[in-house]
Amino acid sequence: MKKTPISFEDTETAFVSKTTADLNRAYWLFQILSINWLVQLSPAVFKFALWAHLPIKGIIRATAFRHFCGGESIKDCQKTIESLSKFNIGTILDYSVEGKESEEDFDRSLEQTLSTVLRAKGDSTIPFSVFKPSGFARIALLEKKNSGKLLSIEEQEEYSRFYKRVSTICEAAFNNNVPIYIDAEETWIQDVVDEIATEMMMKFNGKKAIIYNTLQMYRHDRISFLKKSIEHARSNNYFLGVKLVRGAYMEKERARAKLLKYPSPIQDSKEKTDNDYDAALKISFENLDITYICAGTHNENSCLMLIRLMAENNIPNDHEHIWFSQLYGMSDHITFNLAKEKYSTSKYVPYGPITSVLPYLIRRAQENTSVKGQTGRELSLINIEKIRRKNESLGK
Ligand SMILES: Cc1cc2nc3c(=O)[nH]c(=O)nc-3n(C[C@H](O)[C@H](O)[C@H](O)COP(=O)(O)OP(=O)(O)OC[C@H]3O[C@@H](n4cnc5c(N)ncnc54)[C@H](O)[C@@H]3O)c2cc1C
Repeated sequence: MKKTPISFEDTETAFVSKTTADLNRAYWLFQILSINWLVQLSPAVFKFALWAHLPIKGIIRATAFRHFCGGESIKDCQKTIESLSKFNIGTILDYSVEGKESEEDFDRSLEQTLSTVLRAKGDSTIPFSVFKPSGFARIALLEKKNSGKLLSIEEQEEYSRFYKRVSTICEAAFNNNVPIYIDAEETWIQDVVDEIATEMMMKFNGKKAIIYNTLQMYRHDRISFLKKSIEHARSNNYFLGVKLVRGAYMEKERARAKLLKYPSPIQDSKEKTDNDYDAALKISFENLDITYICAGTHNENSCLMLIRLMAENNIPNDHEHIWFSQLYGMSDHITFNLAKEKYSTSKYVPYGPITSVLPYLIRRAQENTSVKGQTGRELSLINIEKIRRKNESLGK
């Protein structure tokens, strides 16, 4: 086997953009996130504190928000965009307001996402845009449509407005030459999303991938879905954009399947998810003539596997069809080391009003406690870097 041409152990590169004060703050934050019971309690605590008008916004702003988000508006994110671009890392502005239910909120989401596309236009420091389908319609509506149940006249109109929002944003992405990721969410709305994503790809991906669908490889049906998608793209002459992730809603998916007594769509072990994730990368890579891949992962082995495939097949590190992406505030050791070696690399940078971004922050916090080893890995790398800096200052 060829030598792996990268190391994720280089903490000097990983934290080059962080001052020692930043590192200390991150260390403290990840230590809090490792306290499982505290994180599990946090949704109730935040809800109560907001209801009681306790001054928690300032605390959130100075801690988790500062670490995981770019700011409250696109303008606020400018410093982050510049700081990442200095190290050859692209920003993906992610309007992360979740759980909204009103038409005004959905229009605001559309307006914000359109602004991110316009902000990205012609700017290589913002290589992609992104949106969540549930930002454009009520989950209950998408769920009903997904189940095949007949929609009432009002619901049909509501669904048409959802469809219009998605097609407006995809058209804007195409007209402004800004590729866009469609995030994946719960299985009970995903067929609808897959269908629209495919339609948009057929319409806008004739010359290159502008629209990317997302595949969650914790689902045991996604390898066959990927193969079918590739066949479909081949026979209909369009490029297939795929963002490959493991999936963020595992507990919720399992709980619902149990409650409603249907077989869980989720793999029954982490190992199976890992195997399918790597298999999906491999299959997509073997079809690179028509696929565009985003490896959206903090998993070092999966990144290394893709890197190895690229090296063994003489694919340049910055090949236009292959991107790596991590979430802002997580796994800088992967992002910064990849970017240093000229792999095309980006960070999802969430933004939005603090109270509206809370569900996103809670998910990050819960992920960092429930994902085995993630917080431990962050803490140990920060620690290594702190020691390295101390020794350097002592001339050791
Ligand atoms: C750029 C980017 C974009 C993303 N976009 C989306 C998106 O659109 N939709 C979405 O759902 N998520 C998205 N995510 C989140 C992603 O799905 C994962 O939750 C997160 O990245 C952790 O997985 P990992 O590959 O980074 O790392 P790892 O730590 O290797 O894997 C953790 C993941 O493995 C899976 N897993 C853990 N335990 C088990 C188990 N017992 N059985 C089966 N599977 C298990 C879960 O999916 C868990 O999140 C995105 C992540 C990134 C970095």
